[in-house]
This record gives sequence, structure tokens and C-alpha cells, in this order.
Amino acid sequence: MSEEKALTREFEKYFGILGKSLDEFERFQHADALEDKQEWLEVLNQPLPQVGFGTEKVVELIGSTLLPNGSPVPKPGFTSFITTGATTSSVIASSAAAVASPQRYLLTAFNYLEELSLDWLAEMLGVKEMKGVYSSGGSVANLVALGGARQYAYEKLGVDPAANGIDRPARIYASADCHHTIQRSAGVLGLGRRAVVPVPCDRSGKMEVSALNDLLNKDKDSNYCVVAIVANAGTTDCGAIDPLWEIGQLAKKREIWFHVDGAYGLPGILDERYASQYRGLELADSVIVDPHKWLGASVGIAATLVKNREFLFRAFTQEPADYLEGSSMEGNEESSNNSSMQSIEKFTTEAEHSLDNFGIPYFDYGVELSAPCRGVVVWAMLQEIGVEGIKQRVTRHNDMAFYVENFAKKHSNLEVVNEASLSICCFRYVDSAIKDLNEFNRKLHRQLVRENTNMPSTTKVDGKLAIRPCFVGARTEMQQAYDLMNDVVRIGDSLLTEEIENF
Ligand SMILES: *Cc1c(COP(=O)(O)O)cnc(C)c1O
Repeated sequence: MSEEKALTREFEKYFGILGKSLDEFERFQHADALEDKQEWLEVLNQPLPQVGFGTEKVVELIGSTLLPNGSPVPKPGFTSFITTGATTSSVIASSAAAVASPQRYLLTAFNYLEELSLDWLAEMLGVKEMKGVYSSGGSVANLVALGGARQYAYEKLGVDPAANGIDRPARIYASADCHHTIQRSAGVLGLGRRAVVPVPCDRSGKMEVSALNDLLNKDKDSNYCVVAIVANAGTTDCGAIDPLWEIGQLAKKREIWFHVDGAYGLPGILDERYASQYRGLELADSVIVDPHKWLGASVGIAATLVKNREFLFRAFTQEPADYLEGSSMEGNEESSNNSSMQSIEKFTTEAEHSLDNFGIPYFDYGVELSAPCRGVVVWAMLQEIGVEGIKQRVTRHNDMAFYVENFAKKHSNLEVVNEASLSICCFRYVDSAIKDLNEFNRKLHRQLVRENTNMPSTTKVDGKLAIRPCFVGARTEMQQAYDLMNDVVRIGDSLLTEEIENF
């Protein structure tokens, strides 16, 4: 029997076996992966197999050994980093695409959803006129957006930076609280990490517009090429939304590319309590969002949305290649340069066979050629629960951050370190008997994590170590906020008793 037959003709059987283990995993009652590590290390630590064991054995190992020792990330009480477990429909969608449409190019039904879902995302998130491209995560999505910015800025000076490199040093003005993938993007783009000038933020993590203005004035007569101003719609640390309107106005006045990193926080626009803070988003030249964060997609899906995709094309095009030439009716060069192929209407009207055309040339808008269909996952999720469903989830999670804030405010042994913004609220346990608050809260946090149920992260705000829950998981409900606060108080009280006894 050939391998292909086994793979494609016995899904029902294998998913039947795996389904039980997957369901068991999603009860989230398993111990941490490292608790019984000896057991699975013994099974997995094998020499390179010279002869295979066959599909059945592989499926059995996945069910018996891998799944029970998976990640804490999908647990409903996991509120550490901004990452989540995928929802059911997104897992099914990505598995189906892996089988039936393993590339995002060529004209398949799956690939039609690539553009449709990008358009849906743009509409849902308040940037309807933007066009997009998917990539693996916020890191690459920022890189792609800033590639567009670099192209725009240097072309204005008569230089094609993608073709010939840059001829003068660059500056990117970014919120001091921006994600460090902004600096890395600058490095990868040949601008240098040090080209990123941090713009000071206020206590809540919002960029200070007057400081930005001063920095821009200071560099005005220099030889720098100003590539972009980077603001956040939801910082990773505290969920802060920068004053997008004021920053956008400054950028427009000076004709600087305005980039908004909304990897985590862009869906926050759906919560009416926050919507007004997103005013100015429409001034952005590029925006990113990670469907694999708040939207519950399987990991590996981010979207870069831009006002003008031509900048991405000129920044990332592969020059015509013989190995692609002629393998579709239009050929690579023509389809890539042909802006008529950039609209979804043309997707089906100009071809008769799925091989007649590569479709929208996403491979020229970013850094990947081979890439999975990611749109189908976003599409599946939106088909399943709609904008209304996403809105409810975002609102629920933001409610949870408010609950944490109010609980901490009322409790005499808790202190709010940074008020709730979106679904993040930073707080700590305090008492006059505690000598080292940072050390105390670090201990408290380590114990929380050891208990393996409610797992926030920590961050430092003004030198204070704070407990930082960020609620984003699709399975994360109000109950997790109640449980977290009860756990914090219980552990804190018992550590405090110890501290007093040891004094
Ligand atoms: C998570 C995050 C990123 C990085 O995204 P990845 O998907 O982890 O690569 C970038 N910016 C912000 C604001 C983020 O929260």
C-alpha cells in the first residue's frame, strides 16, 4: 500500500482514534508536560528510524504520548503571553487546507478565501479600504508593513531600496513600548535596529505626542530618511492604545508612513467602550493584526493591511524566474505586475482552469513563496460566530480586566499597578509587613503557575513587578477572572503569614 493511500483514505479511522485524545486534552485537566517527563522522554528519545512503523503507530504515539503532554497555552486559565489555543473550526479549516489546497497560489476555492477574508478583516476592524497579505505572525506582519514603509520613503528620494539598497541612514519613530519585532524588522530591512528611535510614553503606556513632535523637529534638517512612525493599538504589556488621531495627523502633515501595530489589540475596536480610542486608524498607511491572538485562529496567521499594496509589491517582488514562467497561462511577470489581478472579482472571471493563473501574487507582497492557506481559517471562524461573536468575546475579556481592576481596588491587600486597558490589567499583592514587594509577587506568581490552572504573566511597571493577566482565549470565561483573583488572594495571604512568621 502506498503512503498516499494511507494518508488520504483513512482519515475517518485516524481521526476517530485521535479524536478521543483531542477531546480528552480539551478537558484541560492534564498535568504539566514536565510532570511525567521521564515517561514520554523514554518513548520519544529514539534513534533515527531506518524503517518506518507506519501511519497507525504514528497516530497512536500522537494520541498516547504527545497530546497528554501538550502546551498550557490552550487552557482557559492561561492568561500569560498573548497567544491562545485554536478554536475547533479553525483547526478543521487548516487541516482541510493542508490536504486539499496546500499552497495559497493557484485558483482554488480555498485561495479565493485568502482575499475575501482579508477584505472581511479590514471591514470588521475599521480599515475597509485596505488590502492585505497574510504571514506567519505579528513579527513578519510588522516586517512586511515596514518593508512597504521603507519603499515609500526611499522612493520619494529617488532610490529603490529593495533593488539597490539604501543610500542614507534611516529613522523610525516608534512608541517606547512597541513590540521588539519593530526593532528586529528594522534590522532585517537593512536599516539597523538602532534606527528605531523610542518615543517616550506616559505612565499608562501611551505615546506622548509632544515628545514625538520634538524628536521629529530635532531630526528635521538631518540627512536621515524618515521611514515610519509606529504606534500601538494595544501594547503587549498593558494594552495601551496610542493617541492615533494626533499621531496620524503629525504623520500626514510630514508625509511620513504611519504604521499601527494592532497584533493583539486591533479587535478591541469592536468594544464600544474603546471604539473612540481607535479614531485615527483611518490615517494609517499600514496596520497589522494577528488572527492567532484574540480571534482564536490556529497559530501561524497574521495579516498586514495596507492602503496601497503596490509598495509591498515593489518592496518584496521576486524578479521574474524561469521556474515559474510559463507554468501558468499568464506567467509570473505579467500576473505580478498586472494590478488588475489584485481585485477579488478578477480571481475567477479571467481563468478557466485553476492552473491558468497564480491568483493574487501574495508571494510578491511578503517574504514567503510556499505558504499555507490562512484565509480559510479566518473565514471559518467568521462564518462560525460572525462579527457579533468576536465582539462578544472581546467585550467579555475586557469586562474581565475591569473585574480584576475593581477587585484589586477594593481589596486592602491588592494594588492596581496599571488600570485595565482592553483585556489586560496589572496589579500586585501588598502589605506593610512585606519587605521586598517584587520578590514577594514573584514568589506568588511562581506558585500560581505551579498550580497549573490560572496562569497570568508578570511585567514591570515603573520598577514594580506586577501580575499581568491578559484575557484572550476563546475558552476563557468570566469564571477564570473570579478564580484567578481568589487564587491570588489565597496564595498571597499564605505567603504573607509565612513572611510574618519568619520575621
Ligand atoms: C504578539 C505581538 C507581536 C508579535 O506577534 P507574533 O505573532 O508573536 O510574531 C507584535 N506586536 C504586538 C503588539 C504583539 O502583541
